[in-house]
Amino acid sequence: MAFPIRVCAVCSEEFELKPDKPGFANRCPACSVSESADPVTKRGADADERKTLKEANDARRQAMRDLLYRKDS
Ligand SMILES: [Zn+2]
Repeated sequence: MAFPIRVCAVCSEEFELKPDKPGFANRCPACSVSESADPVTKRGADADERKTLKEANDARRQAMRDLLYRKDS
């Protein structure tokens, strides 16, 4: 089964335009993935993600401290 060959608008690579290919029809699968994955995760989750990371780090640091003190005493 042959698919139409398209040239990616981003990286100029030829790719097969499959019916179930996600993303834009004029972008190869690799460019579709990076383009569709980045803006959503970066813009939407950045502040929340940083806050979650900070809280996780604080919790881990606290746990380590507890562990160290408990081992010493
Ligand atoms: Zn591409």
